[in-house]
Amino acid sequence: MFLMIKITLALLASATMMFANSKAHWDYDKHGPAHWGEFSSTCKIGKSQSPINVKTVDTVNLNSANRLILDEDRNTIAKVIDNGHSIKVTPEGGGKIILNGVEYKLLQFHFHGLNENTVNGVHYDLEMHMVHQNADGKLAVVSVLYLEGENNPLLDNILGGVGRDIRVNPNDLLPDNTKRYYHWKGSLTTPPCSEDVEWYMMKEAQSASTDQIEAFRKYYDDNYRPTQPLNGRKIEVR
Ligand SMILES: [Zn+2]
Repeated sequence: MFLMIKITLALLASATMMFANSKAHWDYDKHGPAHWGEFSSTCKIGKSQSPINVKTVDTVNLNSANRLILDEDRNTIAKVIDNGHSIKVTPEGGGKIILNGVEYKLLQFHFHGLNENTVNGVHYDLEMHMVHQNADGKLAVVSVLYLEGENNPLLDNILGGVGRDIRVNPNDLLPDNTKRYYHWKGSLTTPPCSEDVEWYMMKEAQSASTDQIEAFRKYYDDNYRPTQPLNGRKIEVR
């Protein structure tokens, strides 16, 4: 009888282990970027993956059809969460961008540290991704790089507001000059690494104080994917 119970328990334990393995989730550690192909094949075989390194000498002038129109100036309530991959902010009534006459609504924004997209191989301290989606489900990300420097008041609210609702205006996270940027076609930088994502990265970096960068590092100190090959993609500049 005891033996039966023992065997049953052992079987249950191994079944639980198998279940746990099949439910393994991607991360930046044991199941990090080199293993993401196990979660979505696009991460491994995709030819337009993100992030990338912008080599400024190889950029071409922006096709005017790809011009970015920003309309993010909205005071709104937003939920701030630690989703296990990043600090994510979801505004109730975010703004939008317009690309070639098509509206993309702001869904959420989140942070990576170090940054993901590099410029001439240089890493920055943080990168913010503002994720937008149009009515057909196509995605467009506006990225802002952060360098160590002055304190950014909105960043204080976000980092101090994890787990709560806060007031935000996403416009406050954008640089003064939003007319200068890089554009390319890429993917999500996390599984499922889906492609056909429009990427816009502001040329003007924003600043975050040493304390703010340290506060972010307490949550994440390496939630970034290494840069991916361009495979012939051209990076546009305006
Ligand atoms: Zn991101």
